[in-house]
This record gives sequence, structure tokens and C-alpha cells, in this order.
Amino acid sequence: MLNAEMMYRQAQQLLPELIHIRRHLHQWPELSFHEFETSAFVAKRLHELGVRHETEVARTGVVGTIGHGEGPVLALRADMDALPIMEESQVSYRSRREGVMHACGHDAHTAMLLGAAMLLKPLEDTLPGRVKLIFQPAEEIIGGDGYSGAKLMVEEGVIDDVDAIIGIHVDPTIPAGSVGVRPGPMMAAADRIEIDILGKKAHGAYAYLGTDAIVLAAQVIMAAQTLISRRIPAVQEGVITFGEIHGGVRDNILSDRVHLTGTVRSFDPAIRDQLERELEEVVSIVKKMGGDYRYRYVRGNPSVINDGQLTGFVARVGKQMLGADKVVEASKTTGAEDFSWYMQRTRGAFVKVGAKAPQWEESRSLHTSTFDIDEHALAVGAALLAQSAIRWLQEYDADRWRMAQE
Ligand SMILES: [Zn+2]
Ligand SMILES: [Zn+2]
Repeated sequence: MLNAEMMYRQAQQLLPELIHIRRHLHQWPELSFHEFETSAFVAKRLHELGVRHETEVARTGVVGTIGHGEGPVLALRADMDALPIMEESQVSYRSRREGVMHACGHDAHTAMLLGAAMLLKPLEDTLPGRVKLIFQPAEEIIGGDGYSGAKLMVEEGVIDDVDAIIGIHVDPTIPAGSVGVRPGPMMAAADRIEIDILGKKAHGAYAYLGTDAIVLAAQVIMAAQTLISRRIPAVQEGVITFGEIHGGVRDNILSDRVHLTGTVRSFDPAIRDQLERELEEVVSIVKKMGGDYRYRYVRGNPSVINDGQLTGFVARVGKQMLGADKVVEASKTTGAEDFSWYMQRTRGAFVKVGAKAPQWEESRSLHTSTFDIDEHALAVGAALLAQSAIRWLQEYDADRWRMAQE
């Protein structure tokens, strides 16, 4: 069996091929739930490797399995979708699809997981359990039916037999060659609010004859901000942002309707419940002022809360592989990630793979038109996934993991 350093060396030998895969995917990005060519590419690669797999899982996803029979099951997850962004870099492998770009590094995640498959497949007969390779579509959106790729994977039962799951994401703030871990809350729950404030029309010169929906909306907006500062404990975090406000028709007509949309971010599930409930209480003040309202709170991705034990385990593998100083603390952010849907069903660790090149003075931010990675990260991600899978299956002890879960 390979030790961590040997695994990393093997992954580095695969690096030219992983770069080739990543650049191919980078040039042909596809939007969420439209990853047709990407998933066909993944399926073809798995077929060539002799990895048994299913296609059209969660619409455009692919799920491969390495290992046989009974024993524990570890899932490794990569996402595959791109973003509606016009790439501005002039690199040779820039996007060839106008207005679509792998600006979140999902091309790299897909290449890393294929790399892990290449590393694991020759060891298949020695694995004391199974590794599920989840190539997931649509991380970036929540469709009109409320589903993102991960939520659909869970709904289709992909992780019903899974004992733990590890996901990776490139991080442009961490140097390539390092990985970032963080036990506990790491990324926020992201919910959407849609509010209509209803008043009564009147001439703007005779405001007392109507109910001004714009003034009511102003009260609501200001009061909503006090939920964060005065209603949740100061040691807890959250943010309420109204991103849209529409109302009124002209300068001297009292508006009878204001439409607001916004996003609510939180980490603790109890705080999330509280914000949903108390935000409606805030909106309802308009009734006391002669108005009315409609309130819709649409839950998006839950928060990413990393399992402490599993995260510690991946950190240990990372240290063995890269050196103790190469495992750093990942930051906690109010961004969201649909990996959290898997975590509702099984213990999970979401791990950041450093992707900042040493010569870059500033990091290339995710979701921007100039995003790029240091491709050395591909070998780190592939080796970390593969070695974590092997070690986890070897060390798995149902009683120990069950105890830790309670
Ligand atoms: Zn993204
Ligand atoms: Zn992403």
C-alpha cells in the first residue's frame, strides 16, 4: 500500500495529464444542468480506466465506484458546472464558449477526481470497502424546482449507502501546494427573501389620504438590520442584504406597492430558523401602519458544517503528504456551497485546495472574469482525495465512527 508521500509523487507524475484534462474542460465550459459534453467526457475517461459507473445521475451527473462488496463506503465529490461569465484572460486554454467560463474551478475539481480514480483503480482489489466518485452537475444554481445538483444527488439516493463524504474546492487565497481545513461551520446557509409591501395610492400632495408603501418599506429595511445587531447573540454571525427594491410610478403619486428581494446568510441552523421567523415579524409592522404584506422565505443551501473528526483525519493525511506546515486553517465565509446537502445525510468534510501561484501578487478571485489557478494544485487535490479514501477505508471502525457521530 502506498504511503502519503508516494501517493503524492505518483499524482505529480500524472500532472501533465491532469493539466491536459483541466484545460480541455476549461475550454469547453457548460452551464449548470447542461454538462452534457463534460459528463460524456468523464464517463469516457472512467470507461477507459475500467471504472464502473452510472450516467445521467441527477440529470447530467456521473457516479463511479471503485472497490467491491461489503465494507464501508466513502464518497468523493467534484462539481462540473461553469458560470455565465465572459473570460477575459488571454491564456491559450481560455474558454471557447462565449459568455461561459469555469470561473469557480469546477474544471479543476473534475480533473482532480479523475486523477483520484487513476490513482485508486490499480489498488482496487486491496481496498477494504468502496469509493464512490461523485461527478455532480449544477453546484452554481438552484433551479426553478428548488434543486441544485447535490440536492438532486441526495434525493436520488446516491449517498444512501455512504458512510462519509469528502469534497474539495480550489482556494485562490491559499498558496498552491497547501490545503485548507476548518472543522465546524465553514460556509453559510443562503436563503432568499421576497417581500411585497402593500399600501394605498393617493396624490403625493395629499399623502394623508393614502398609505405610502415606500415609507413602509423604508421602516422594514431599517428594522430588518437590527435583527443581526440586536436579536442574535453577538458571537453568532449572519447577514441580511436587500439586493432589489422596486416601487412607485412617478414623483407625485404615492406608491401602493414595493417589491423587495434579498439574501439571508447564517451558519447555525437555529439562528437560521430565528431569522426566518423574526424577519416576518419585522415585515408585519406595516400592518400596524395601515399597510399589508406578502412574505416568502425560500430556503437555499444549508450551511457547510464540517465534521470535526473527518476534517481532522483529512488534515492528518494532508500533513503526511505535503508536510505539517502545508495544512493551514481555511477561512469561514458567508458564501454558500451545495455540498452541504450531502452533509444533511452523512458526515462530511469540505476541504480547500490551495491554488494561488507564487508569482501572483494578488489572488485571482472566484467568480471573476480573470480567475485562474496554479495547476500544481491538480496533483495535490488528486492525491489528497485518493490517499484519504484509502486510509479512511483502512482505518474505518464502525463503532468508533458511530460513537463520534453521537
Ligand atoms: Zn462558484
Ligand atoms: Zn465552486
